[in-house]
Amino acid sequence: MVIAIDGPAGSGKSTIAKMLAKHLGFNYLDTGAMYRALTWKAMYSGVNLEDENALCSLMGETSIELQYKDNSVEVFVDGINVTKEIRLPSVTNNIHFISNKLRVRQRMVKLQQKYASVGNTVAEGRDMGTVVFSEADKKFFLDADVEERARRRFAELNLANKKVSYGDVVKDIETRDNRDITRSNSPLIKSEDATYINTTGLTIGEVFNKVLNEIEPILKNRVFKQ
Ligand code: C5P
Repeated sequence: MVIAIDGPAGSGKSTIAKMLAKHLGFNYLDTGAMYRALTWKAMYSGVNLEDENALCSLMGETSIELQYKDNSVEVFVDGINVTKEIRLPSVTNNIHFISNKLRVRQRMVKLQQKYASVGNTVAEGRDMGTVVFSEADKKFFLDADVEERARRRFAELNLANKKVSYGDVVKDIETRDNRDITRSNSPLIKSEDATYINTTGLTIGEVFNKVLNEIEPILKNRVFKQ
């Protein structure tokens, strides 16, 4: 079974996807971490980020491994733990070079489908419902106003003692949204059959309950059929 969750940065999809995976005993697939991992590797190895052929070869020779335990994901590139490095602003700012390369995405999609083939999975990203798991058992699109998403991100950064201004966080989120929505390959878009949830003003618990309410009938139906 696959549950696909898409949405822009700060929409709450990672938190909800992890809670859901834990609650249901499913695997959790963080596809953003995979794009981050390849971006990190490309930067680390000095590959030209504009060169699709080079990036495609790099993807072919890179092992990206995700280990999900205790409600968090550890990311390994060629066996090196890069969990912290892939969240650095320098990596975040360069992902768009990688995520708009068609052939890189095609390889990434295959890898993501392979991860999900080993067991029930909650997968989150930008193109889960539209491309990677277009046949998912249930699809969600989480969203929130940009100000609210920036407030959440700003609070996270403050908690981690990172000094940034709220204005800069808004700008970063807007830039990233714009790139993800307008890119030519697999842009961020709600799949027609996805349930849209606007999380603005809702607590995590409220969003989680909405998601569970949608999923429970599907789970019951599956148990009934077996
Ligand atoms: O989810 P996260 O914010 O870590 O994703 C980082 C970036 O990776 C996104 O802004 C997007 O450009 C890219 N991405 C993507 N497709 C996915 C997941 C992430 O293009 N399925």
